[in-house]
Amino acid sequence: MLADQDRIFTNIYGMHERTLKGAQQRGHWDGTANIIKKGREWIIDEMKKSGLRGRGGAGFPTGLKWSFMPKESDGRPSYLVINADESEPGTCKDREIMRHDPHTLIEGALIASFAMNANTCYIYIRGEFIREREALQAAIDEAYDAGLLGKNAAKSGWDFDLFLSHGAGAYICGEETALLESLEGKKGMPRMKPPFPAGAGLYGCPTTVNNVESIAVVPTILRRGAEWFTGFGRPNNAGTKLFAFSGHVNNPCVVEDAMSTPLRELIDRHCGGVRGGWDNLKAVIPGGASVPLLPKDMCDEAIMDFDWLREQRSGLGTAAVIVMDQNTDVIKAIWRLAAFYKHESCGQCTPCREGTGWMMRVMDRLVKGEAEVEEIDMLLDVTKQVEGHTICALGDAAAWPIQGLIRHFRDEIEDRIKHKRTGRVSAVAAE
Ligand code: SF4
Repeated sequence: MLADQDRIFTNIYGMHERTLKGAQQRGHWDGTANIIKKGREWIIDEMKKSGLRGRGGAGFPTGLKWSFMPKESDGRPSYLVINADESEPGTCKDREIMRHDPHTLIEGALIASFAMNANTCYIYIRGEFIREREALQAAIDEAYDAGLLGKNAAKSGWDFDLFLSHGAGAYICGEETALLESLEGKKGMPRMKPPFPAGAGLYGCPTTVNNVESIAVVPTILRRGAEWFTGFGRPNNAGTKLFAFSGHVNNPCVVEDAMSTPLRELIDRHCGGVRGGWDNLKAVIPGGASVPLLPKDMCDEAIMDFDWLREQRSGLGTAAVIVMDQNTDVIKAIWRLAAFYKHESCGQCTPCREGTGWMMRVMDRLVKGEAEVEEIDMLLDVTKQVEGHTICALGDAAAWPIQGLIRHFRDEIEDRIKHKRTGRVSAVAAE
C-alpha cells in the first residue's frame, strides 16, 4: 500500500487548503527555481529516467515526447498545451487535481514549459468543468500575484505565462489536434498526422500536448528523483497513479496508489469491495470507456498497469475503472458506449461517421435480442473495418468495447437472441 509520504497528490479530497499557502505547506513550490537552474537537458533526462508514461490514456513516455521539441528556436515560439478536457466516460481524476490540488499542475506547467523552451502554456479545460475552472483560475491568479508566474517566474530567470482556455463540451476536443484547432478558435476537428504537433502544432508552431496528471506529477518526481518514482510499479510501468473507481463498488473513489497493484486489491482496499462481494462481479472496464472489458475470471488476476492490460487485449487508458456486478446488462452497457461514440464522432472520416452509427444500431437490436446470430460476426467485422482506418483514435475507441463484449460475452448475446425467439425471456429494451 502506498505510504502517505509517497503520495504526490496531498489534497486530492479537498480536506486541506488548496490555496498557495496550503500548497506550500504541503511541499509544493519548494525549490522550483533550483530545479529549473539545473537546465533543460537534466530535466528531460530525469523525466526519461523516471519512466513516466503519459497519464491521458496512450501511455507514451513523457520525457521522450518532450525531447521531440526543437532545442533551438527557428524563430517560431514553442508551446506547451495541457489537455484538461477530461471527457472520457467514467474518468474523473484530473478534475480532482484541478479543483483541490491546482498548484501541482501550475508548478508542473512552469517546469515542463521551461524544459521545452516554451514561454507560454495553455490549459484547455472541459466545457462542463465550471468549478474546476474557477479553482484553477484562482490558483493561477495567486501564482501571478506571488511572482511564481510572469516575468522571471519563481525567480528562475524564465519568463512564463499561463492561460486557461475553456472548451464548449465536445468530447472530440480531448483529441490533441482537435484540441489545438479548438484553441485556435476553429471547429474542434482532428488534424491529419503528420505533421505532428512537435513540428507544427498550435498556430503552426512546435507544441507538446500533455495530460493534466502527467504535468502535475513532474515537480515531485524532479524533487524526489527518478529513482524514487521507478521504485513503484513493474519495469516500464513506473510510478504512482490516480485510479478512479465507479459503478458497482461500495465506495466509488479516486485514489492514488502504486502502478501494477492488483485490481482486486485496489477495489477491496479503497472501495470497500464490489457490491455484493467479489463473486458478484461480472466485468470491469479498466481504463475509461474506450478499452475492451475484462470478465470476472480475468479480473481475479488483473494487474493494473499498461503492459499487463495490453497483453490481455485491453488497456490501462486513463485508469478509470468501471465496475459492473451480476445485475448489469452488459450488452446494454456497451450499447450505451456505442451511442456515446456515435454522438461524439466529428464526422470527418467515413469509417467513423458511418461505422459508429452502424455499430450502434446493430447493438441496439442485440440489446433487444432482435437480430440474427450471424450478425454478431458481421458486427465484429465492421469493428475491424473501423479500427485503424480513421484520422483519430475515436474510431478505435468506438470499436474496442464492442470487440471486448463479443470476445467475452458472445454466449450472452446469442442467448438473448434465442430467448427472444422462444419468448422465454423478456429482453431489456434500449431506451
Ligand atoms: Fe472525426 Fe471520427 Fe474521424 Fe476522429 S475518427 S476524425 S472523430 S470522424
